[in-house]
Amino acid sequence: MSSETLKAHGASKGTIRLVHLYPREMSIYGDLGNTRCLATRLRRHRYDVELVEHHPGNPLDADAHLILGGGGQDSGQARVEDDLEANADLLRSLADDGTPMLMICGMYQLFGNDFTTVEGKRLPGLGILDVTTRGNEVRMIGPVVLSTPHGDVVGYENHSGSTTLGSGQEPFGQVRHGQGNNGADQTEGARRGNVYGTYLHGPVLPANTAFADALIGAAVDRALPGGFEPEDLDDHIAHEAQRRQIDRLLSGRNK
Ligand code: GLN
Repeated sequence: MSSETLKAHGASKGTIRLVHLYPREMSIYGDLGNTRCLATRLRRHRYDVELVEHHPGNPLDADAHLILGGGGQDSGQARVEDDLEANADLLRSLADDGTPMLMICGMYQLFGNDFTTVEGKRLPGLGILDVTTRGNEVRMIGPVVLSTPHGDVVGYENHSGSTTLGSGQEPFGQVRHGQGNNGADQTEGARRGNVYGTYLHGPVLPANTAFADALIGAAVDRALPGGFEPEDLDDHIAHEAQRRQIDRLLSGRNK
């Protein structure tokens, strides 16, 4: 484990502990940008950030306020399996307790029931999200647009895994462009309470600020007595980037 403290922009309203799971093994296609985005937005909302990197074999920080995990190769997923198993009870209890978590692609699959690779190797998951994933020869690759409870969300997917939601498992969003969980049922990702799994890289948070602030709000509401007191951030560049991607993809101009 390594950690650093990043100071709020202005008088601090308190400290939020942000834990990034497996930044070496599971951080692909810019997923580290999600951690940077949350840390930067927290500081601009005037919170200090304790940024903790969790590496396999180290104790997991039980006082985490917000937990992030990224995507990776099937081989990277296999390398974090033992550590995930060792921390399974703690992660499940933090999830049950409402700790916000964002798991991208490979970590989304491992927060589900299991992932069977294209070679037939079964990697058991935590079962926090009721989803099951099987690898395919044909990968699902390309830009994505979703409708979600946090508004439109844009990103980029690249996965061999095809994911099926259990009955009653809420998706993260509905696919308007792209493949999503399996290319068939128009669902993308999964959500249980404050735990989100999604295939979207990009990284997903910088262009989707409402979603980023929903995670931050849930973290601050749990961590600090006064709850989340957002600053009025100027997000016009992010909003414009998101709007352009949506317009381009839904009008078919990228084809
Ligand atoms: N290895 C997994 C798959 O291809 C995850 C890929 C990723 O995280 N981008 O399905």
